[in-house]
Amino acid sequence: YLSSPISSLTTGLTLLQQGLGASVRVNEVDEMPREEDVDLPVAAPPVAAPRIELREVRFTYPGRAPALGGVSFEVPAGRQTAVVGLSGAGKSTLFALLQRFYEPESGTILVDGTDIATYSRAEVRRRIAYVEQDAPALDGTIGDNLRYAEPAAAPDDIEQVLRTTRLDGLVGRLELGLDTQVGPRGVTLSGGERQRLAIARALLRKPTVLLLDEATAQLDARNEQALREAIDRASEHCTVLVIAHRLSTVTEAEQIVLLENGRVRAAGTHATLVETDDLYRELAITQLLAQEEPAGDVPAAVS
Ligand code: ADP
Ligand code: MG
Repeated sequence: YLSSPISSLTTGLTLLQQGLGASVRVNEVDEMPREEDVDLPVAAPPVAAPRIELREVRFTYPGRAPALGGVSFEVPAGRQTAVVGLSGAGKSTLFALLQRFYEPESGTILVDGTDIATYSRAEVRRRIAYVEQDAPALDGTIGDNLRYAEPAAAPDDIEQVLRTTRLDGLVGRLELGLDTQVGPRGVTLSGGERQRLAIARALLRKPTVLLLDEATAQLDARNEQALREAIDRASEHCTVLVIAHRLSTVTEAEQIVLLENGRVRAAGTHATLVETDDLYRELAITQLLAQEEPAGDVPAAVS
């Protein structure tokens, strides 16, 4: 008796949110959407690494062909899934929808079986961390960089994310440790180190889902290995989705989703896809392997 008015209230709020989401989408698609009008806390998202399921997700930017034309796949809880595809395939759009920057025009994104549209945007982004491609280090110290989104982070938690991302060694070698400035007057970080710092910053907020748009910079073998380990360790606590630009990432992923023109062309392991899919094989040989060449990953100040 008690639950039915509450659940119909919930449904009403959800519909309201979707309506507001739709108007935001149309008006502000080329900018960051305003969000203050759509944050209605309705339910608390799960606290453990969730299973994510996309069901026939469609999304179209105004006046364009559909960027996602009915995308369905499942990401098992606490695993790594790599998303690959040519430029324009829809990878970034998919990540934007997962963070509710846009709403699907049809279809659903389910997190542990619940439509993410039923969660407030603030809650969704508290749980889903996004690490952008080639994110610059912020002005300030390494500690400032870490605490940026979590100013009250406990020292133990900071130590833990440094270990997870294999930055503990680097910080340990610096005379000023976490108080070392990043940039010209302090330590110069390579592309791989900057991305690991961005991952550490994201993990400090204890997300249950990590979305990572892999850095395009070539990494030297040591940084490549460290980044691999960071992603592996993160996936012990999070469900991880990586837009992958490197063969090493996809070969280790439990699942690879190959997008083509806004659709899932194929999904499976690296070994299966190399056997069965021409486009995947081509990507693996050209785009992905091309980035396996030596050199690269030099500090930004030098390159
Ligand atoms: P990917 O990340 O795989 O390169 P995107 O998701 O960025 O692909 O793009 C998918 C399609 O949507 C492309 O055709 C792209 O031109 C288009 N697109 C992406 N962002 C916008 C935008 N803000 N406005 C209009 N069209 C966009
Ligand atoms: Mg992109």
